[in-house]
Amino acid sequence: MKNRVEVERVLEQAIRNSEAYKDVGKLADYIPELANVEPDNFGIALVDVDGEIIVKGDDEIVFSIQSISKVIDLIMALEDVGREEVFSKVGMEPTEYKFNSIRPISDKAANPLINAGAISTCSLIRGSSTQEKFDRVIEKIGSLSNSEDVRFLEHIFLSEMETTDINRSISYYLKSIGIIDNDAEEVLELYVRNCSIGLNVKQLAHIAAVLANGGRSLDGKEQLVDKEVVKITLALMAACGMYEESGQYLVEVGFPSKSGVGGAIIGIVPGKCGICTYSPRLDRSGNSVRGLKVLEEISKTLNLNIFI
Ligand code: GLU
Repeated sequence: MKNRVEVERVLEQAIRNSEAYKDVGKLADYIPELANVEPDNFGIALVDVDGEIIVKGDDEIVFSIQSISKVIDLIMALEDVGREEVFSKVGMEPTEYKFNSIRPISDKAANPLINAGAISTCSLIRGSSTQEKFDRVIEKIGSLSNSEDVRFLEHIFLSEMETTDINRSISYYLKSIGIIDNDAEEVLELYVRNCSIGLNVKQLAHIAAVLANGGRSLDGKEQLVDKEVVKITLALMAACGMYEESGQYLVEVGFPSKSGVGGAIIGIVPGKCGICTYSPRLDRSGNSVRGLKVLEEISKTLNLNIFI
């Protein structure tokens, strides 16, 4: 990173400016365990495509990745069964409805980055049992984050499984209209397990940096995700990654991103870097309030918007 000192300064300033929003927003308490996280935690990591990293704040805190797992679900479905099969089961369009809405589904879910779409892509991940499929997801996340410490936060998983009537309904509905071929309960379990994977901002920023690097490992030695799969994934993240604020976010921040109700956001600046913020107070759409503010400022100050 040529301008490391400058990037550090910009991150520090953005964090300071976001302190005004420290108490704004609400934890995602519809999953009871998520109401127990420390609301004031804040961390950010930026990893460039050469693997150089800058971290600020609470960079060791492990949180559930929630919807960010939808990016991995999509990548694995595309790798396992191919583009044609995936998009026969799920659309490519943004939606104005909430991420867990059952309403927009007519023949298939609007896109793979909302719950119904990710439940659809989870049903395409290969493996002879839910455990085997989940092990493959963990392995994939391990290789993309260059880390062996990929956790499963069982308390989050159990808490969501007890309360996830809406996702259960979506899963059974998708089964009834022929989108899901396998057992609806097993697909639901894999989807919720993937949401309950625990990572820190450094690991997620590393995954984002690999995607920014066209799917190549940051040491340049291995193609970890097929380039065509990366292209599709980033396009859909740009169009649909930030819930029903995706358009506004793209205007203000201007690079493919995905957020999760756990409070993290990953951003991918192709050819440059991956970024992850973590701050669990959310706005009405489910996006981290401070995460949005920080990303907006650093995008503007470091000229990271991909459209200009
Ligand atoms: N596990 C969460 C759910 O299904 C993920 C939602 C999100 O992060 O957008 O409700």
